Amino acid sequence: MFSRTISYLFKKITMDLSYILNELGEERENYFNAIAPPIVQSSNFSFRNVADFRKALSDEYEAILYSRGNNPTVDILRKKLAALDGAEDALVFGSGIASISIPLLALLNQGDHVISVAKPYSWTIKLFERLLPKFGITTTFVDGTKTENFEKAIQANTKLIYLESPNTFTYELQDLTAVAALAKSKGLLTMIDNSYCSPINQKPYTMGIDLVAQSATKFIGGHSDVVAGVVTGSKAIIKKIFDAEFLNIGGNISPMNAWLLIRGLRTLPLRLQRSCDSTKKVIAYLDTHPKIERVIFPFHKDFPQLELAKKQMHDAGGLFSMVLKVNTLEEVEKFCNSLKHFFLAVSWGGHESLVIPSAVSIKPNEFDVSNPTHRLIRIYVGLEDPDYLIADLKQALEK
Ligand SMILES: *Cc1c(COP(=O)(O)O)cnc(C)c1O
Repeated sequence: MFSRTISYLFKKITMDLSYILNELGEERENYFNAIAPPIVQSSNFSFRNVADFRKALSDEYEAILYSRGNNPTVDILRKKLAALDGAEDALVFGSGIASISIPLLALLNQGDHVISVAKPYSWTIKLFERLLPKFGITTTFVDGTKTENFEKAIQANTKLIYLESPNTFTYELQDLTAVAALAKSKGLLTMIDNSYCSPINQKPYTMGIDLVAQSATKFIGGHSDVVAGVVTGSKAIIKKIFDAEFLNIGGNISPMNAWLLIRGLRTLPLRLQRSCDSTKKVIAYLDTHPKIERVIFPFHKDFPQLELAKKQMHDAGGLFSMVLKVNTLEEVEKFCNSLKHFFLAVSWGGHESLVIPSAVSIKPNEFDVSNPTHRLIRIYVGLEDPDYLIADLKQALEK
C-alpha cells in the first residue's frame, strides 16, 4: 500500500513516512517516556535568568516564550507537518483560512497584484475580493488549466501566483511544475491550497511551489472535531510570517487541538487510503447508473486533465461531484433528503460521509435545470463500508 520510503515524483524524500508520523519531533525521555505527547496547556514559559529571558525575547521564532508564538505540543506537530510536505518549516493556525489569509497578509504589500486560479475555496475568494482590496491589493482570477493564462495576466506589480489544485467542487488542476517554473523565471512567489490532496497525495513544495497551505480540519484532523490550518515552506519565509503577522494577528492553534492533530496524523495514510479506495468503488457504481449524467473526479477516465492528475498526484479520493439527470429542484432535494447514511453538512475529511447539493446555495426561484452546475452534488466518502454507502445511494436514487 504505502512504501516505507515515499519517493515522490521529482525529489526523493528520504525520511520514512512511518518515522515522521510516529517519532519525529517527539522527545519522549523529556516526559516520562510517554507514548502520547503531553498537552502543554500553558500560556507562558519561565526563564532561569535575565540573559536567557533577553535572548528569547530577541528571537521569539527560536524560543519557547509564549504560546501565541511557540508551544512544545504545537512544535511536535509543526515538525511532522513540515517533513510531510518535504518543506523546512511549518506554521499551524486556528483555522485553514487563517493559514491562507495570514501568510498572504505577510507577503503582500500595498499596491501589489495577485494572480489567482479561478474558483478557489469560497472564503479565499472573499479574501481576494473584500479584505485584500482594503490594503490596495488587487487580484486577477484566471482559468488555471492553461499555464499561459498566468503568464498573460502578469502586471508590473504582480507579486504572487495563488493556486488550488484540484479545487473541491469541480476539481480543475494547474500544472504545478510549469507554474512554479514560470513564477521563478519572473521573480514571483507561489502559494497553493493543497487541502484536497493532503501531503500524502501531493507535495507541491517539492515541485517548486513556495508556500503550501492546507485546512487541517479536513484529512489531518480526520475526525470532524478540530478546526485548524497549516502552511509550510522555507525557513526564511516561515520566519518572516512568524515574526510579524503570525504573532500580530494571533491566529495560533490551542495545544489541545494540536494534540488532536498529532493523533490524527498517526492514522492519516490509513484513513486516506480507505477513503480513496472507497471513492473509486462508489464512482464505479454511479458510472453505470441511468440517473447520473456525469461524475467529476480527477482520476475519472473521462476527466479532461486525467494525465496531469496522474503525473502530479499520488492518488485521488474522498471528494467527487456528480450531475444528476433530473428535471426539477424537488428531485435534487428528494435524492439528498432520502440518503440515510450521508450527512447533509459542510466540510469533509472526517470519518463520516457527507453530501452537499450545489442547489443549497441557489435561491429556489433561480434554479435552472438546463445548467448542469445547478444539478451538481458534491459527495465526500468517509470511512464507512463502501457497500453500505452504495446501498444508500441506490435507494435514494430510486426515489
Ligand atoms: C475547508 C477548506 C478551507 C478552509 O479551512 P477551515 O479549516 O475551514 O478554515 C480552505 N480550503 C479548502 C479547499 C477547504 O476545503
